Amino acid sequence: MKNDVVIIGAGHAGGMTAISLRQQKYQGSITLIGNEDFLPYQRPALSKEFLAGNIEEKRLYLKSQNYFDKNNINIILNHKVVSIDRNKKTILLDDQKRIDYKSLVIATGSVLNQLETINRKVDLYYLRTIGDSVKIREKLRNNNKIAIIGAGYIGLEIASIAITKNIGVTILEMEERVMSRVVSPEVSHFFQQKHQSKGVEFKFNTYVNDIESLGKQKRIICNDGSVVDTDFVVVGIGIKPNVELAQNSGLECDNGIIVDETGHTSDRNIFAVGDCSNHPNNIFRSRLRLESVQNAVEQAKSIASNIAGNHKPYQKIPWFWSDQYNIKLQIAGISRNHDSHTIRGLPEEEKFSVFYQKDKRLIAVDAINNSKEFLKGKKLIQMQAEIPPELIQDMDFDLEEIISSR
Ligand code: FAD
Repeated sequence: MKNDVVIIGAGHAGGMTAISLRQQKYQGSITLIGNEDFLPYQRPALSKEFLAGNIEEKRLYLKSQNYFDKNNINIILNHKVVSIDRNKKTILLDDQKRIDYKSLVIATGSVLNQLETINRKVDLYYLRTIGDSVKIREKLRNNNKIAIIGAGYIGLEIASIAITKNIGVTILEMEERVMSRVVSPEVSHFFQQKHQSKGVEFKFNTYVNDIESLGKQKRIICNDGSVVDTDFVVVGIGIKPNVELAQNSGLECDNGIIVDETGHTSDRNIFAVGDCSNHPNNIFRSRLRLESVQNAVEQAKSIASNIAGNHKPYQKIPWFWSDQYNIKLQIAGISRNHDSHTIRGLPEEEKFSVFYQKDKRLIAVDAINNSKEFLKGKKLIQMQAEIPPELIQDMDFDLEEIISSR
């Protein structure tokens, strides 16, 4: 007898697909296969509370082994799926075991971008797994200086924790500002100042040419010839979708595995979910590949419904968050294609928002220490609201009025 649902990748999206299937009373057999040594877990805390040592490992897990046993979800850990035979509807594991499926879900997540240096032997730290976070936490405990390559969310979150451990932090970034891919210059400036006020040093417009070991120390050689000496180096320069399996089995891929609004790939028996997938979104009138918990969870629920026979298209407003010091950044929507942006509130009060518009339509909101504005922003994006910039700037005007007037 064939396995009903087989899920490749026991991360957030794969785990949530299995859990959502059972929550939706799906009766068929479910097998979840992951190449890590852990039950499905949440990664955000790996660069936040878990790295800081403020929460225990058990808080990271989506569910316990007991839950999976009770719900009859068969989990195979520590095994990589090495190929998919779409004609025979089987997958092959790294121990040569074959598993057949009726429906296959690919939830292989992302792979880290690796720093290219001339010297390949030097030890660098990356952050993706529980093991990586534990190693970096240990380094933070035993060293005085850290250099971080990349001023994205992960690099900045690690910096904010390193500073609280009294470690000297230098961040090297090839762009001219922090988080330049995702936020406006004003938000970058705000975060840069916050970090600098805590003692972080930045080197912008800087590429790493090479990293050498000098005894126990590392020397980073930059493109302008300058050097940074440090105790250890963490690299956070982004990720790319993990599409190798899908590509090798002939599924359509283009910046992720191409899926339709129901999560189907170019093969009707195969779905893709989470970081590795690229889906259409009507609200943004474009395809999106997202790297977020919201996407992993919501898309998993939608795919589970579709497998369980309740047609549920996936059309959600993406959202994301980052915690640095006492600052919570919450982002609703995708600002990538905006043609104007307006600031609401005062950055100096550490509580403000940025509203991004395209053709007058609101497409994204960055809220800094302002969860209420984030929630309103999400609703307004969903409504595809057109809001005059003067109203956005006017702090006496409650945006709720627009929401309740519709
Ligand atoms: P993953 O969780 O990466 O799971 C994929 C799994 O598949 C992995 O376990 C992988 O080992 C396994 N796998 C891959 N190939 C195979 C194979 N061939 N066979 C078997 N198994 C395989 N998002 C937010 O929204 N907010 C945050 O604040 C935030 N912070 C983050 C901090 C860190 C340090 C990291 C790493 C990520 C963060 N994210 C955050 C992103 C979020 O965690 C991801 O978007 C989410 O985990 C995606 O889920 P996924 O299941 O698609 O991928």
